[in-house]
Amino acid sequence: MTVENATSVPNTRIEELLDQLTVEEKVSLTVGRDVWTTQAIERLGIPSIWLSDGPSGLRRAVTSSDFGLGDSLAATCFPTESALAASWDLDLLREVGEAMGTECQAQGVQILLAPGVNLKRSPLGGRNFEYYSEDPVLSGELAAAFMTGVQSQGVGACLKHLVANEQETGRMYADSVVDARTLRELYLRAFEIAINKGNPWSVMAAYNRLDGTYCTENGFLLRDVLRQEWGFEGFVVSDWGAVNDRVARIDAGCNLEMPGGQPTHDIVAAVQDGRLDAGCLDEIVRELLAVILRADSSRRPNATFDPDAHHRLARRAASESVVLLKNDGGVLPLQSKQSNQITQIAVIGDFARSPRFQGSGSSEVVPTKVDNAYDELVRLAGAGTEVTFAPGYGEVNEPDPALLAAAQATAGQAAVAVVFVGLPGFSETEGVDRKHIDLPESHNALVEAVLEVQPKVVVVLTNGSAVAMPWATRVTAIVEGWLAGQAGGGAIADVLLGVVNPSGKLSETFPLRLKDTPAYEDFPGEPAHCLYGERLWTGYRWYDARDIEPLFPFGHGLS
Ligand code: BGC
Repeated sequence: MTVENATSVPNTRIEELLDQLTVEEKVSLTVGRDVWTTQAIERLGIPSIWLSDGPSGLRRAVTSSDFGLGDSLAATCFPTESALAASWDLDLLREVGEAMGTECQAQGVQILLAPGVNLKRSPLGGRNFEYYSEDPVLSGELAAAFMTGVQSQGVGACLKHLVANEQETGRMYADSVVDARTLRELYLRAFEIAINKGNPWSVMAAYNRLDGTYCTENGFLLRDVLRQEWGFEGFVVSDWGAVNDRVARIDAGCNLEMPGGQPTHDIVAAVQDGRLDAGCLDEIVRELLAVILRADSSRRPNATFDPDAHHRLARRAASESVVLLKNDGGVLPLQSKQSNQITQIAVIGDFARSPRFQGSGSSEVVPTKVDNAYDELVRLAGAGTEVTFAPGYGEVNEPDPALLAAAQATAGQAAVAVVFVGLPGFSETEGVDRKHIDLPESHNALVEAVLEVQPKVVVVLTNGSAVAMPWATRVTAIVEGWLAGQAGGGAIADVLLGVVNPSGKLSETFPLRLKDTPAYEDFPGEPAHCLYGERLWTGYRWYDARDIEPLFPFGHGLS
């Protein structure tokens, strides 16, 4: 018997509870208790459940009243969604989901706020690293497999962000105007497939507007499409801070407003004066209770997880996500039984020792440990191989002549140079879109400098989304290593030394020029907001400009 079957909640129990709840209590259930938990009603034995990010690992804040950015319980940081998508491997996604579900059980989390299936409308999307693909069918299939894994552990998945939430610029108020066919065939398609095949316990309504109406208040989206057409039976949670009109969101079918901790008398008053139908409130609470009670009865209070086993899974997942973009003359693997036995390897580029392995924002995991490619290469290559190192660049965009000269000296003396380059943390983050697809100048200059002194140059990329490679035709090999999670360093070593035969395939286009991408002329869309002095009008609600930062700690997309 699956965990789901074992814990379904009888309807009679929910109806009994509805009979006993006061209007105030019903309303309070639909607004979170604090940042991460739902309201409990102790007199009736209704428990509180905990929701946490996702999607590349669990980010459980230390306390539920804390956003917990950079300060959450340690968990396994798996490769980001954009990396995992390159594996095209449903079984792998299920396994990763299962592992994250186990970690949720061990850390007392009932709903994992993952996966995200927004599409890559433009390579500039700031959260592209958090999404699978530009292809809605692939995204939907991968999401379903992942959610099946999570939910097999008695933990709910939350599919996000419904819908057309493809840009970070003005993300709190942007209006996504999409014609019906495009909406159905592209933006809704991934959600539809994922819901059909993965049956999530929850869906997150996005920040933006869809055709003029905020997604959290959009009855067409949340009632007509999600529930009536697709038969979704879980609850809808708002993205954090996405509710603008609190009565309209209940009316439209958004069950839970997060983060919580706000007074509820305005919603209660709306029920009392008939602006909000009492039957509608009951339905919202009924749907919510069904999941809360099911999640509560699936808790495994003594659960633990094995960090080493999950680290090994993260390494396998990362190595299956690696894409070999180029391999002239079979330079890779550097060592193999059949052929090359390269015994002098120059590892160039600071990312080899200080890896960037995840994106920034709400998905940021505090890892249980972090491998780096240099140490793993030294360990795997064995005593007979000399592995040297030069950092090649610092943290700034401008090339540093001294670091370049040192890198040339190191690279020139080896039989092959493996050059680690990629995107810096600030260029791939929630809340901000990219302005271009270029690597930092210092990284491109490093590749060029190494090419001057070394005929065999293997480039290893660290990035969560497409980048331009002006040197692509002149280097010997290119390994797309992605944002590979905490065990990514080992995975790269496995691929370079032939322990793993890389089998990943790109799941998104790498354009030669940004100009060639379809949304080039209109990405990001014009944000429809007005700033009046110190106040911001988002279309429904005034924000005091000074209050914006604390309200949206992961970024609000205001420019
Ligand atoms: C993000 C969501 C995330 C939520 C809670 C929001 O800023 O858009 O993806 O789940 O914060 O951290």
